[in-house]
Amino acid sequence: MSLHTAYSAPVARERLFAVYHRGGEQLSLSRLAVQLFEQQSITWPQLQHGVASLSTVRQRRVTCGEFEVMLQFNPGRIVSTAAKVDAKSIGERKCFLCVDHLPPEQQGVLVDDEFLVLCNPAPIFYQHFTVSHVRHTPQNLEANIDWLLYLAEQLSPHFTLFYNGPKCGASAPDHMHFQASPIGAIPVEQDAMFGKYLEEIGEQGGVRLSTMRNYGREAIVFESDDHRRLGDTLRRAISAMREVLKSTDEEPMMNVLCSFGEHRYRLILFPRSKHRPGVYFEEEEKKVLVSPAAVDIGGLVITPVEKDFLGLDGALMSEIFREVTIRPERTRRIVQMILRG
Ligand SMILES: [Zn+2]
Repeated sequence: MSLHTAYSAPVARERLFAVYHRGGEQLSLSRLAVQLFEQQSITWPQLQHGVASLSTVRQRRVTCGEFEVMLQFNPGRIVSTAAKVDAKSIGERKCFLCVDHLPPEQQGVLVDDEFLVLCNPAPIFYQHFTVSHVRHTPQNLEANIDWLLYLAEQLSPHFTLFYNGPKCGASAPDHMHFQASPIGAIPVEQDAMFGKYLEEIGEQGGVRLSTMRNYGREAIVFESDDHRRLGDTLRRAISAMREVLKSTDEEPMMNVLCSFGEHRYRLILFPRSKHRPGVYFEEEEKKVLVSPAAVDIGGLVITPVEKDFLGLDGALMSEIFREVTIRPERTRRIVQMILRG
């Protein structure tokens, strides 16, 4: 892959599989990501191993009253699920997303000199990417809303972009990053598209707002063909969440998924009250290693321990979701505040 000669971003050339620029005449970012994956799965043994281990994961559907989730037994995810994300542990470890600390074989696609698309070597999906900022800057959605929408559009039609807040699922809360998964692979993407759970609430400034009904956890769905209006509505949603959830000093806890298709953005926001459920902190037999982030709260629940994969039932799953999500009346207040503009 040839690189632009005018390249001057803070990433060494040998790290770059390709450089992508807004408006440039080139392959789509979506296609470049696929090519990156094809190349890295030949040249990078750790990724080869991670992808091969996916062939041994098991999945099991669990009915939780009116909704279902899919459990994935994936031992390769133990590092992420069991990651210590408290400030002390984070301060003491070497940041694994900083470009200088990446494994020698790892390369990426540099996007507009700011974000680097990288293959995730401990995948949940066959093609699973981390889209990481080139600088060590804290995880923060509000400052990166335009990037969220832009990257989701550029990664279409193959991928969905998602975001985990620094206190609810990001295993590098000190380094700004998104992730990308094959479009439609997270169950909520389908569930939020058809009528069964989706309840349309209204429209505000060219953005259609809906919530999810009988879904076991609270979600707000935004649809629009206009990235500026959608960005403004999302900013309003974050400030409403800040007020309702009383998170004045820090970003309200949330997971966000965003995809783009048929000229429209679809964004799913899960407001959160808590990162890990009580059972995560139990001892031995009572412990259930489930650490919900965007993929899990989206309906694909990762269980790196076999005992949990076999033992988790609908009642416990519903309880875990209830514990880490917000109460329905809080969602209603947030939506009312968004609609008031
Ligand atoms: Zn870093």
